[in-house]
Amino acid sequence: MRASAANLDTVRAAIAHLADPEIPVVSLSELGILREVRAGDDGVPEVVITPTYSGCPAMGQIEDDIRAALREAGIDARVCTQLSPAWTTDWMSADAREKLRTYGIAPPNGRAAHGHDKVISFARRAATQPVPCPRCGSTHTTETSPFGSTACKALYRCLDCLEPFDLFKPY
Ligand SMILES: [Zn+2]
Repeated sequence: MRASAANLDTVRAAIAHLADPEIPVVSLSELGILREVRAGDDGVPEVVITPTYSGCPAMGQIEDDIRAALREAGIDARVCTQLSPAWTTDWMSADAREKLRTYGIAPPNGRAAHGHDKVISFARRAATQPVPCPRCGSTHTTETSPFGSTACKALYRCLDCLEPFDLFKPY
């Protein structure tokens, strides 16, 4: 059976509720991880995902979650991983950024740096761009570690409300 527009919508609906296991409040689509649901060359629906960070341990979990949701809905579809173009925090929707902030994670500050100087750019950006505290909004914050609860995040501390928080690093 070839995938029709209608059953591609069924596939989308079956996985719409899935979120990043590390950030349960933001859907895969809002994060920009879920790129596309399309009909494959043979007519079987394909769910196309792009990993956030290469080697991010959450990606295996995300694939498993998608497969489980499809199985549960009785849908025969493939999960395809697309590595290029590489995922960037620029793909996060405005809603996703707001939900991150509400969840207590500072959304990426500024646009992602591309190319081999990502790490250097990040260090420079951290020094020049304020990271507002997701709890009280103060920009009086300081980086306490370049790695937070996961490699995708940096650990910050607010100097006003004294709360530690994660920054989702621009990437
Ligand atoms: Zn604060």
